[in-house]
Amino acid sequence: MRDRLRRDLIDLMLIPGLSGHEERVAAAVRARLAEAGLTSRTDRLGNVIATLPGDPAAPSVMVFAHLDQLGFFVRGIDDDGLVRVERMGGVPERALAAQAVTLCVGEGRDVPGVIANKAHHATAPDEKYRVLTAAEIAIDTGHGSRAAVEAAGVRIGTPVVYRPQAMDLAGGRIAGTSVDDRAGCAVLLELARALAGRTGLPTVHLVFSVQEEFNLRGAVVTAQVLQPDIAIQIDIMLASDTPDMAARGDMALGAGPGMSLYSFHGRGTLNGVIPHPAMVALMERTAAAEGINLQRAATVGVLTDLSYVQTVGQGVASVDVGFPMRYSHSAIECCDLSDLETLTRLLDAAIGRIGPGFQLDRG
Ligand SMILES: [Zn+2]
Repeated sequence: MRDRLRRDLIDLMLIPGLSGHEERVAAAVRARLAEAGLTSRTDRLGNVIATLPGDPAAPSVMVFAHLDQLGFFVRGIDDDGLVRVERMGGVPERALAAQAVTLCVGEGRDVPGVIANKAHHATAPDEKYRVLTAAEIAIDTGHGSRAAVEAAGVRIGTPVVYRPQAMDLAGGRIAGTSVDDRAGCAVLLELARALAGRTGLPTVHLVFSVQEEFNLRGAVVTAQVLQPDIAIQIDIMLASDTPDMAARGDMALGAGPGMSLYSFHGRGTLNGVIPHPAMVALMERTAAAEGINLQRAATVGVLTDLSYVQTVGQGVASVDVGFPMRYSHSAIECCDLSDLETLTRLLDAAIGRIGPGFQLDRG
């Protein structure tokens, strides 16, 4: 299982997929679903849905992870060919200087670029610790003129992402671009293989959602159509086992999957998720039975698309689960393969426990 998770994760990390431009990642996911014998479909926004019909008496389940990643859109091109951008999603500006990027003009034709960083030798003392905003940065593609950049296919609106990369660190850790949420997609693919062809399950909709990093509402479209009773969202859990994060929680890389008991954005967006108690109990009981260490999180500053999915129809019994991850939204995020493996096992076993008697009433 671990080898497949690693292969899927790295393959997906190396495919660019800015929000609203997820087609290449979606195609890779759909090919893998087909290999597992599962047919999939896409809706108008681009969400990929594979439904495994099950016991109609049991509550139906939507399990989802997002395909898209954050980045930029081209805002303009200077006469000297430098490309200017607008940020798309939670781009950490202090981690941008001197990063490599990919301007996505078409598969096989993508344009490499670098985010310019002022020559250190000419940097004045008062400039040394100043972070440029995304609006101030310039991307150098080497072309040297606006006409040459445009001839390469770059236009206003062209998607730009960190240059895709993936590397193995010691101890089964993987570092690189868009671990958020390609690791969730890899887990969902492995779950698909585990559930395919099994009987005695509830109806399960496996959904690879779009535009999470943009407005968190891509998955809502799918939920409105599917009307699931239960929604389980797979995404990152903020690892707090580095010195800078020590006060933020108790979530360690490699110590098992995580479950969020409370999330709230707290930066103007009045949303988050307080999970359904039956889902919390299900995850806790399943983890105990499977011998899996289930870590807990309660975090202000985090928001996922589940926040909007939970309010669809009569309300959806929801829970956020995920894998610990370090260095979120930077060009090099980091996760541990053992967490992806135990998270897959947890989800597989938890879904197997959802039968006709599974109680979601709050009375
Ligand atoms: Zn995410």
